[in-house]
This record gives sequence, C-alpha cells and structure tokens, in this order.
Amino acid sequence: MDSGGQLCQLKYRLGAENEFGVIDLAMRTYVCFKCGRKIATENIQYLCPEDGSVLEIELDYVGIVRNGWEPEVITPGNMSMWRFGELIPVRRPPSANDILNSVGGTPLTYARQLNSNIGERVWIKNDSLLPTGSLKDRASAVVVSEAIARSIGAVITASTGNAGVALAGMAAAGGLKAIVVAPRDAPVAKIEQIVGYGAELVLVDGSYSDAYDLTVKASTEMGLYCRNTGYNPLTIEGKKTVSYEICEQLSSMVEGRKTGAYWKVPDVVIVPVGDGNMISGVYKGFVDLMSIGVASRIPKIVGVQAEGSAAIAHAYMSGNPVIDEFNSYTIADSISADRPSDGYRAMHAVKSSRGQYLTASDDEIVVAANELASKTGIFAELSAAVAYVGLKKLQDTEWVNASDDVIMLITGHGLKTVGTIKTPTERYTNIKPNMKALSDTLCGKDII
Ligand SMILES: [Zn+2]
Repeated sequence: MDSGGQLCQLKYRLGAENEFGVIDLAMRTYVCFKCGRKIATENIQYLCPEDGSVLEIELDYVGIVRNGWEPEVITPGNMSMWRFGELIPVRRPPSANDILNSVGGTPLTYARQLNSNIGERVWIKNDSLLPTGSLKDRASAVVVSEAIARSIGAVITASTGNAGVALAGMAAAGGLKAIVVAPRDAPVAKIEQIVGYGAELVLVDGSYSDAYDLTVKASTEMGLYCRNTGYNPLTIEGKKTVSYEICEQLSSMVEGRKTGAYWKVPDVVIVPVGDGNMISGVYKGFVDLMSIGVASRIPKIVGVQAEGSAAIAHAYMSGNPVIDEFNSYTIADSISADRPSDGYRAMHAVKSSRGQYLTASDDEIVVAANELASKTGIFAELSAAVAYVGLKKLQDTEWVNASDDVIMLITGHGLKTVGTIKTPTERYTNIKPNMKALSDTLCGKDII
C-alpha cells in the first residue's frame, strides 16, 4: 500500500494530568503464541519481533493464588469486569463510577425455549447490553485504561464498526480521543455511534484488512497507540472476562455458590468468529480460571463464521495449517475479515478445547436473527445471530449431550444493523385508522 508521500509529524497527544499523578508503568512479560519467545518490558509491545505473531501477557498465577484471589462481591453498582482484579493486567481506571468502570456484568439468562429434545440447557450470555452495545467494550475499556495509565491522549483502531464504536465510547468516557479507520460500507448506525461519541472517523475505500494495515502503519510510523485486535495484546485481556462471568453466574444459578468449590464450567460455548480475537479471549478466560484453581476444565468451544467470510473455518475443517486469504462478502459485517488477524490462536482455541467450527449462510443468519428475537426477546445483530445458527446445527447433529449446559454468546445489539435487511411487507399490515380495519386484520391473521 502506497503511503502517498510525506507523513505529517504527529506526536503522542498527552492527556491532562490524571488521578495517578506520576506515571508508573507496569513491567510485563509477553509470550509469543508461535515461537514461545518471552519479552519483558514496560514499553508498549505489539507483535513478536521475530515472527510477527500475536503475543500473550504472562500472568503470575502463583502470585495471584498466593494473594488469595477472590472477585469482589457483586453488589448494585459493582457488576463490572474490574471486580476480577489482578487477572486483568492493567491498572483499573481512576474513577470508580464512570462508564469505563461499568463495563461487564451482563445477564446470563436461561433460554428454555431454545432447548431441543436432547435434554440440554441453553443459556444466553447477552453482551449486547454493554454500554456501546457489543462485547468489544470489554477490550476497549482495557486498552483505554492502559492509555490513561500511560497518559496517552489518543488511540487508533481499525474496525468493521463495533470495535470502533466501542473504542469511541470508552475513549469518550475516559477523556481520550479515538481515531477510527473503517471500510466505507460500515453500517450507518455504527457510523453515527462513532461520530456521536466524538471520535475522528476515517472511512477508506477498501476492506477491513486495508483499514487494519493502515492503522498498523500509523502505530509504527506516526507513533499512535493502536487498539487493533490480533495486534494489541491487551484486547483479549478484556474479552476473556466474559468467560469469568459465565462460570461465576452459572455457579450461582445452577449450583448455588460455595466457598472453596470449583466454579461451574459450561459444557459448550458458541462464539461468533470474524478475525478470531473474541474466541481467543473466551478460551484465555477459561485457561486463567483453570490456572488459578477456580475451574476444573475448559468447555468445548464452537466457533461460527459467516460462509462469506470463513477463512478460519475453512482452514480448520480442511486440516490446512495455513489460513488462506478470503475474499469476504457477508451481511454479517462485524465478522467479515479477509485476513483474520488472530486466526491461528482462534484455531488453537477450538482444537485444544475439542470444539468445532461451523459456518452460516447469510440466509440462515437472517432467519436466525428473527427467530432468536421472537423466541427470546433478545434482538441480536446479524453477526451475533450466527451463534444461534451454530446452536441449531449442533442440535440437529446431536453433538450436544443430555444435561449439557450450552452457552450462546450474543456479542452485539440488533439496533446496530437496522436497515441491513429489508423487512418483508407480509410481516406487517398497513390499514386506514378505523376499528373495522383493525378488527378485520387481526381476525384475518387468526389472532382473535
Ligand atoms: Zn515469535
């Protein structure tokens, strides 16, 4: 990609004095997912300098256990993911009562009406209720908190929409500036959200992968702090907290929580997959809980991709160790990725958990979104509804077992993609405003 000549000389825009006073940068050890190389530094670190692979942050599990780790008790006003303390390796944001501090604590609801006759129990973890309407708030809250701790005033990200919305919202809450680079065909509602939160929105004539490459270059050539998934190691440190909450809530609802006992781990977790970062985060969450002795096992993790953007699923199902580039086209915009930036870790998450990958056609996704809404009252965005397509396919093949607890992760709100599909006119009626017409309509529809 041609950089187009001389770049303007941006410097880090430093934020105003924050409540930390003097910046105290945390020393962290990063471990390369591919080669295992360790890098200990207090500086910002993105990818492995040897092979360009993603890095994971090494947590001091022994120290965490020795310190008697316990999540803070859920009380009104204290539902957030920050209750998990040392398991999130960034400094908690300074103010205890703002939006940045409120991220997390979404409902886990029992969806009895989605059970099949196999005898399993279906649960919905509804992250569409996070502040900006998607699970990506968890990642953005962590990245923005890191920026605040470092007195960085601006953060950039590539996005198909939701990551940009989440960064814009969290940055607004934290008093930072967000720069969002997105494909020009990003959904209107997401564009309005990003602009509404006061972010600098840049639309590019290209794909998400083009936007991704641009922002990575901006981070290296212009010195901007970059939130990109599969690039910034902190994003999964936020996303993983959804797994903590699933186990914590399942324990309390199914078994009643007992001190000293393991938390209840579900049997199957179904996750929508685009670039692979979310499912990598979900997996890491369960690994963390096992590593500190809170969980006894890892559930089978099922990734569902749109058929029109299925680079990871194709590689996984064909046994190909290399993820080939995919020319993506799907109505499920949030999970559209030509070159999944976290694809290899996403394959590992499914393989080592004995899960599987599935795909969903655009038609199946639309049907699933409507069916999910009408059966449960949860209006999911199309990219999230792929999880329900996955559930139905698992039930058809009897892959789930009797008495399994199956979690379906709903990752984004349906209002974000209103207008993407045209509602068929037979789904509603248009009448003159009189009682006869209303009565005829309702009687004709066999309601009365
Ligand atoms: Zn490496």
